Amino acid sequence: MINEPNLPVRRNPCCGYCVDAAETLESVLGEQPNPWPRTGDLTLCLNCGAILVFIDPITNQTRLALPKDGQTLSGKRRRMLVRAQKYIRRRGWIPRERERLS
Ligand SMILES: [Zn+2]
Repeated sequence: MINEPNLPVRRNPCCGYCVDAAETLESVLGEQPNPWPRTGDLTLCLNCGAILVFIDPITNQTRLALPKDGQTLSGKRRRMLVRAQKYIRRRGWIPRERERLS
């Protein structure tokens, strides 16, 4: 799991939540070091659960994902993504005062 920002600060296009880090599920679970995101990688907004796609990881620019963006995911990874999205949406938005980058 990463403890420091690994991306430039940028607001997500979905809800405007400020992000400065991204990590893989494997990194969160301590199974692998966190790789640098690549163009085309899917990512999940931790505030609203929107699925996003990295357009430019160097500048942390993303866009909303389209159904075709998930076609290369395995069934297992797709289920994990949907499960994480449901968890985030059930939990609700992160209160503005906890958004440390705003
Ligand atoms: Zn969002």
